Amino acid sequence: MTDYIIVGAGLSGIALAEELTGRGKTIKVFENNSQSSSTVAGGVYNPVILKRFTLAWNAAAQMETAIPFYKALEEKLGVNLVEELPIYRKFNSIEEQNNWFTAADKRSLAPFLDTGLKKELNPCLPSQHSFGRVIGTGRIDTALLLEKYWQFLNELGVFFAERFEYQKLQLLPDGVAYKSHKARRVVFCEGFGLKKNPFFNSLPLYGNKGEYIIIKAPSLKLQVAVKSSVFILPLGNELYKVGATYNNQDTSEEPTEEARESLLSKLRSMITCEFEIVDQVAGIRPATKDRKPVVGQHPEHLQLYCCNGFGSRGVLMAPCIARELAAHLEEGAPLDQETSLLRFLK
Ligand SMILES: Cc1cc2nc3c(=O)[nH]c(=O)nc-3n(C[C@H](O)[C@H](O)[C@H](O)COP(=O)(O)OP(=O)(O)OC[C@H]3O[C@@H](n4cnc5c(N)ncnc54)[C@H](O)[C@@H]3O)c2cc1C
Repeated sequence: MTDYIIVGAGLSGIALAEELTGRGKTIKVFENNSQSSSTVAGGVYNPVILKRFTLAWNAAAQMETAIPFYKALEEKLGVNLVEELPIYRKFNSIEEQNNWFTAADKRSLAPFLDTGLKKELNPCLPSQHSFGRVIGTGRIDTALLLEKYWQFLNELGVFFAERFEYQKLQLLPDGVAYKSHKARRVVFCEGFGLKKNPFFNSLPLYGNKGEYIIIKAPSLKLQVAVKSSVFILPLGNELYKVGATYNNQDTSEEPTEEARESLLSKLRSMITCEFEIVDQVAGIRPATKDRKPVVGQHPEHLQLYCCNGFGSRGVLMAPCIARELAAHLEEGAPLDQETSLLRFLK
């Protein structure tokens, strides 16, 4: 009898796998590559919402858990995953500059907002109103993390590259049976794939499609991330990710012409140098209306759990929420009411 079947190995499933195995529990992981949110993500960790200059929900605490979590994974997998990457917010007006200073006066935001503005950042990125730097930001190479972690699980013989078929799950008094496997519990970490899950699809998770274009811009020579109407993220080798878009109507996985045109027009208003588009990627963010995760036990089938709803902030949320869920599952710690799926079932 395995302790846990985990369905889905994006950021959520990986974080949970680490937390559970760290507690000496046995796992089996099913992953069918049907969702690509964690693979295409920019991987940015940044506690500040750069539209409004506010702190994202629980972000300071999440940083304290998430960064050491990914650093430990770097050691374990023998790859570089964490890159400290400054983020500069381009100001579009004096008013925005003033809002930045007002925000920086707040105790919660002061550690993250640099008040020494930068007048010029890069010859190809003009700004009339300077740039402000967010402190303590960076990027996780999520695509590499998924690739290496799946390989790691595969070598342990606990990775099943196949679709989890819900109709084959049998609920037993002491756990579940699934095909030839038996387990105490199943945790669904399926991202937007949860909408196809008959046990949890009544939860109000919605898809928010995000797209990036990847450009090659030899003369840009930008070493930092810049946020204006879109993010420009340096990837090395003269490549940059530009985006992302937000679309809660289209839940197809394919890149679209519309997103490409919108990103192009925003990029052209930001940089003055030549570039070419070399790729475009898309994924569906698993989002909730209150922008908080949705976690916990099925109200009737007590062997079943879900860990989802990370929206546009999976990098910081997943390690923290997985830790809370594992403590709940194994030590009986209460789940945070703010993230519990019960808030949607009242
Ligand atoms: C364009 C874009 C940019 C983003 N940028 C950032 C960023 O810079 N920073 C940040 O913090 N967040 C970012 N995000 C958000 C982040 O990617 C998500 O919050 C996070 O990836 C969600 O992780 P997840 O594991 O819950 O879901 P997913 O990544 O969707 O993973 C779910 C996994 O479950 C698998 N699965 C589903 N159903 C089944 C089944 N029946 N059987 C087997 N396997 C199954 C899927 O194949 C998938 O691998 C971005 C998202 C997008 C789309």
